[in-house]
Amino acid sequence: MAVPRRMLMDRGPSSTERALIAGHSGRSVAEIALTFDDGPHPEHTPRLLDWLAEHKVLATFFVLGAMARSHPDLVRRIVADGHEIGNHTYTHVSLEHASPQLLRAEVGTTRALLEDLTGSPCPLFRPPWGKISARALLQLWSDEHTVVLWNADPRDYAMKSSEAAVAWCARYRARSGDIILLHDTSTVASALVRDLVERTSRQALHFSRISQYIS
Ligand SMILES: [Zn+2]
Repeated sequence: MAVPRRMLMDRGPSSTERALIAGHSGRSVAEIALTFDDGPHPEHTPRLLDWLAEHKVLATFFVLGAMARSHPDLVRRIVADGHEIGNHTYTHVSLEHASPQLLRAEVGTTRALLEDLTGSPCPLFRPPWGKISARALLQLWSDEHTVVLWNADPRDYAMKSSEAAVAWCARYRARSGDIILLHDTSTVASALVRDLVERTSRQALHFSRISQYIS
């Protein structure tokens, strides 16, 4: 069964889909979305934000409620810089076997906190490890969440050096609609994004926020 992207997505529109929506043959630009999970991190996130601002790149940050509560100014800055905020639970808990009570505590509390901090609705949600039960999914949909997964995973958390990040970028072939999973809790993610953006002029990439994938 096909589910609308507004409810569940692991990638955005392909170039063919975009051309159909736009009613023309499409541009030769690949639209990809950078997503950063598990922050905001007091040391790495500000540095990453400085760099993204300098290079006019927008992204989506799936933050943890506990980290957001500890670093509310970073949450506000992410939004002030033009990025998008999504919910990644309060304590990075698996939702594979979560009770409705745990789901409310983890997801509902974080959403309320983020909406309070940013003054905007926060319907984007990414389950930790991409794992979620059918029951949890239905509950999230009844609360009008968009559940966001990914289709490109460099496994930045397991990379030991920025060389590994650069090697991944050299292999990566961007396709419109890609959602790249990264973590702003590590320095490797910054190295990876730097290399990816430096290749932009050659590959003609455009960086979308996740909501831009929902038509
Ligand atoms: Zn995570």
